[in-house]
Amino acid sequence: MSEPLVKWSYQGDKGPHYWGHICDEYEIAKSGKNQSPVDIHMEKVMEVQESLPLELNYKPTTYTVRRVENSVHLFPENKEQGLTFNGKRYNLIAFHGHIPSEHTLNQEYFAIEWHLVHMNEAGERLVLAIWMDEELEGSDFGELAEIFPQVFANFGIEKQISLDVSNLLPEKRAYFTYHGSLTTPPTFEGVTWIVLREATTISQEDFAAFQEVIQDTNRPLQALNDRDIHHSA
Ligand SMILES: [Zn+2]
Repeated sequence: MSEPLVKWSYQGDKGPHYWGHICDEYEIAKSGKNQSPVDIHMEKVMEVQESLPLELNYKPTTYTVRRVENSVHLFPENKEQGLTFNGKRYNLIAFHGHIPSEHTLNQEYFAIEWHLVHMNEAGERLVLAIWMDEELEGSDFGELAEIFPQVFANFGIEKQISLDVSNLLPEKRAYFTYHGSLTTPPTFEGVTWIVLREATTISQEDFAAFQEVIQDTNRPLQALNDRDIHHSA
């Protein structure tokens, strides 16, 4: 028998509290001490004197839009875009969103959180998180909002779309950073997280379209344990 297309869920007996029990590969979800997402509590965040340099360098490119497990992911054609963090270059390999946000700021949720998933030559993962608030007007995702529900409804459907993820970014580059994990099974650790502090906006119309598909796709907050969260100056 082939592997089921979706082994885990956000509700019921395959939901987040049981991920660590579904199979050996997912065990880290219950035993890991460096899991994500976490609450970013401003009183506990450490301000760093000299922030690690972060340079974002995204370009317009074509993305393949495809259903992956319980969400819809976008895969860029141009693999030569991404970011440089602390002197290491990471390429963007895919991106997707969660509603509501997974990370919180002083326990407050944002309407949506986008995850730009990157990898460097050594195979190390870095996820850049972008928060968005829902407003009457906001970033325009164009055709993506239309495609999203269609692609989600059928694992066999793949669509192409042109996008520039630079358009999703806030003006300011202040960020929080900490060491965490992927937020979906297998929730591997060793992931560098960069959460941009300034939230941008998403239009009500686009938000409603994404909501149809990815409402309640946020993993519950995980314990910070011994980790520090740093804030760029
Ligand atoms: Zn994610």
